Amino acid sequence: MKVLIYGEHRDGQIRKITFENITLTKSLNVPFEVVFIGTDIPDAGEQLSRYGAEQVTLIKGSGLEKYSPDGYAKILAQLVQKHEADVLLMGATATGKDLAPRVSAILNAPLATDCTKVELEGDQLRLIRPMYAGKVLANVSLNSGIKIVTVRPNVYSAHENPADADVREETVEVPDFKTVVKEIISGAKGKLDVTEADIIVSGGRGMKGPENWHLIEELAELLGAATGASRAAVDAGWRPHDEQVGQTGKTVSPTLYVAVGISGAIQHLAGMSSSKYIVAINKDPEAPIFKVADYGIVADLFEVVPKMIEELKKMKN
Ligand SMILES: Cc1cc2nc3c(=O)[nH]c(=O)nc-3n(C[C@H](O)[C@H](O)[C@H](O)COP(=O)(O)OP(=O)(O)OC[C@H]3O[C@@H](n4cnc5c(N)ncnc54)[C@H](O)[C@@H]3O)c2cc1C
Repeated sequence: MKVLIYGEHRDGQIRKITFENITLTKSLNVPFEVVFIGTDIPDAGEQLSRYGAEQVTLIKGSGLEKYSPDGYAKILAQLVQKHEADVLLMGATATGKDLAPRVSAILNAPLATDCTKVELEGDQLRLIRPMYAGKVLANVSLNSGIKIVTVRPNVYSAHENPADADVREETVEVPDFKTVVKEIISGAKGKLDVTEADIIVSGGRGMKGPENWHLIEELAELLGAATGASRAAVDAGWRPHDEQVGQTGKTVSPTLYVAVGISGAIQHLAGMSSSKYIVAINKDPEAPIFKVADYGIVADLFEVVPKMIEELKKMKN
């Protein structure tokens, strides 16, 4: 079984999910190759060697600098066939969600999205994917020559495992693009994205209003965390939509998720229940968030959070 890992990059940086997928594939003990489409990545070989990639292909071609959903999908589909891959592995990221179904349609290959476990049973892939807002975990196998799998970010930690990467360049015939992304307007500069963060501090309606959000931001800064929000906080216009965690927001799997004034509705849990450790601060001991929390603080957040900030500041000094 040969695996082709789609290498994600942005602004010349390799995205963390690529290293996570390398670690995952190495644990399966099968041959694999990492492909990047479209750009020069400084020190790609050096970085990928550190995580154990041995075969890396950089796909070049005029016009490939700008991401095109249909164009990249066509190229990726061609590569899967040309490189005789059995599995195409991608991140269940914004890019993976955009590209994987298109490649699946072109190749008429089955797709399992947002997997939280990928294992080999004999020569069969065994996949676990949460369904129905995380209420069930489906055990999935794909019966087909070519299989496409996207993996939830942060579920597999990337481990360094040095190898000697052989980096090759391949020039492809660039197809006509129907759509080209001309510009990506990023949100607040330098803001850590919730889907990539190792620690997230999230606030909900219990925060009472945007004027109190400095508590979430201060706590997040001291913990080196990204800030998240419940839909109630986003719908109220207190926070931008890119911070929303949950069924209609982002799915996150950080090491630590701190839920402040969030009740833990099923739609919120759908986006964060695979976090490794959950800390909940809520004044209602019956709040459903405590059912998934590893540590719970039943208290008024306006008393507890300033104390946490004070203590963390003391520890840092
Ligand atoms: C189709 C659909 C999709 C949805 N998608 C999402 C989604 O993606 N993400 C999402 O989050 N929700 C989603 N929702 C909404 C979801 O059902 C809840 O309404 C929402 O999560 C509630 O947000 P909340 O916990 O911030 O607010 P509430 O449910 O109002 O909870 C506020 C909590 O704060 C606590 N609190 C209040 N004051 C304090 C205080 N001083 N100190 C400590 N605790 C305090 C309260 O005890 C309460 O538990 C969706 C709903 C639907 C129908």
